Amino acid sequence: MKIGIYPGTFDPITHGHADIITRSLRVFDKVVVAVAPNPSKHPLFNLAERLDMVQLVMKDVGQVEVTPFDGLLVSYVERSGAHAIIRGLRAISDFEHEFQMALINRKLAKTVETVFLMPSEEYSYLSSTIIKDVAQHGGSLSDFVHPEIARRLQARIRSLKS
Ligand code: ADP
Repeated sequence: MKIGIYPGTFDPITHGHADIITRSLRVFDKVVVAVAPNPSKHPLFNLAERLDMVQLVMKDVGQVEVTPFDGLLVSYVERSGAHAIIRGLRAISDFEHEFQMALINRKLAKTVETVFLMPSEEYSYLSSTIIKDVAQHGGSLSDFVHPEIARRLQARIRSLKS
């Protein structure tokens, strides 16, 4: 069974992330979505909330496991017996950082490959950061995230403002 690990912050999961997970399942038998705490990114949602949101959005898609992960990614990949790291590439601007990460990871663990997938064009401009910005300014989120994620985002932003 070929297993891919899709790591990220997922603060929160967007249609772009979900699109990459669905596409990954055309290549891998199983996808493990590994949610990192990433406190340096000052996430809007805590780890448990982010895990729960990925689970909720992906609940009807088989062969997706959602798990927390901390520490060195390649060690986690090796430990878990997965075959590759999955990353999404939205635009050329993602490339430089992703290329650097992939090469560092290969240096650290020779047998761990990174597989890049491109989302559908309609999601290629989406990022969790932009969606949080739209939410902050009261814009409609319906094209970007699952309705329940939109509700939680709006509620979080309301509670921060009050
Ligand atoms: P990280 O903190 O690792 O960048 P993110 O949750 O922002 O975590 O992203 C996880 C992965 O998903 C990254 O490879 C990122 O490029 C990819 N990704 C995020 N949004 C999209 C999107 N709209 N389309 C394709 N890939 C995406």
